[in-house]
Amino acid sequence: MSKLFKRTKILATVGPSVFGEEKLKELVYAGVNGFRLNFSHGSYDERDEQIRIIRKYAAERGKSVAILQDLQGPKIRLGDIKDNHLDLKKGDEIILDYALKEHDGGMTLPVQYNLAEKVKVGEPIFLFDGKIRTVVKEIVSKTAIKAEVENDGYIMSRKGINLPDTDMGGDIITEKDLADIEFGASRDFDYVAMSFIQSAEDIDKLRQILVSHGSTAQIIAKIETKKAIESDEKMEEIVKATDGIMIARGDMAIEAGAEVVPIVQRKLIALCRQYSKLVIVATQMMASMVTEPEPTRAEVSDVATAVLLGADVVMLSDETANGKYPVETVKEMKKVILYTQEHSKILPLDKETTGNYKNYDAISRAVVKLAEQIDADLIVAATKSGATAEAIASQRPNIPMLSVTSNPRVAGQLALAYANSAIVRPYDVDYAINAALDLKGTGYLKVPEGKDSLTVVLVSGLRDEEGGTNQIQIRKI
Ligand code: PEP
Repeated sequence: MSKLFKRTKILATVGPSVFGEEKLKELVYAGVNGFRLNFSHGSYDERDEQIRIIRKYAAERGKSVAILQDLQGPKIRLGDIKDNHLDLKKGDEIILDYALKEHDGGMTLPVQYNLAEKVKVGEPIFLFDGKIRTVVKEIVSKTAIKAEVENDGYIMSRKGINLPDTDMGGDIITEKDLADIEFGASRDFDYVAMSFIQSAEDIDKLRQILVSHGSTAQIIAKIETKKAIESDEKMEEIVKATDGIMIARGDMAIEAGAEVVPIVQRKLIALCRQYSKLVIVATQMMASMVTEPEPTRAEVSDVATAVLLGADVVMLSDETANGKYPVETVKEMKKVILYTQEHSKILPLDKETTGNYKNYDAISRAVVKLAEQIDADLIVAATKSGATAEAIASQRPNIPMLSVTSNPRVAGQLALAYANSAIVRPYDVDYAINAALDLKGTGYLKVPEGKDSLTVVLVSGLRDEEGGTNQIQIRKI
């Protein structure tokens, strides 16, 4: 068994560059652990086809691969602009009107959301992903607002709008999101990510909707609004309410300023480790590889930093969705992860982990300490709900882990958890150690050179006993 087993996971966004059987298969084989289906684009038929292909090649490869449904949320956009271009100058006054059907080239612009219901005079509105900054001067009617432009530039059709200081009042799940949630609940998603959440209440609301549709997906809160990161307490409340987060650095930089991103990233990763929640670092990790065959030094360093801080997952967006080198990007990212984890330890936390279950926290700490002290090759966890495996992952072991569960949804979710390789086996008392033996038989788990067996720390429990997980064993296989 090589310790050179990727412990930080890769989540790749599906887009035109990887549509079709061949490319998705290549990505699975190159080391992708999860795929993000971005519901801002694409049809349900395309989604069904992508799910089918991903599940097929994950099964062929014999590994769990997560599929994440990324809901658009209140991503507000301009409507169509005449000739797809309008120059704006500092001091111009524009009207953004939800009722306007067609732009005539003037300063009254169509917008795909009724801003008049949410914004207040004096609040900033950013157009074209922050390139044009404006301030609200007047609520002109029930559907229109007037704003003053603060810098020279131009806008184009359907470009994004950000409202960094506007309180959405818990109203962030759109009609489109509701339809997408209903579609998703009858499909095979391991995670549902929600864009532009502003508070823990937004997550509670989403959870109620998912439960009412019978969904077993876990929630990833995308942290990108200024409101979500306005204080350490707010971030902590959000982390406690969710199953995982995505540090959505693209919109976060627009809303709060790029300079806040590195510090917020550190705080959020530490909070997720503390509360045993999944943490994904997203956006521009290898952005230059959209057009170039190699990453920049700064991008390599960015991925390594996420690994060292202890992120569970690093994400690719445009690189795999629209880039020229999607498979090469995954391979480059994997190389950086492997080198970094081999040559440095993850930075320690200054707080103890406090997951959802006290006994799992205590057992997982003991498991990791024991495994590291005896220089074990592998941790094997029998896990029903995934909680034991998640608790061990939150200790960020520098030893790989095999999690064995009888529930495919749990295995899909663990596919993104730090250090985990999850497989599905029908439950029996010895199913976890037997699964490890099988994988040794197939050559997936290799005995290190100079040794005649693998040293395994096995954590398990009898299902009918309270607390479930209650045994730690050292085994040689
Ligand atoms: C981001 O803004 O960084 C992000 C991940 O969001 P999107 O879904 O727009 O890519």
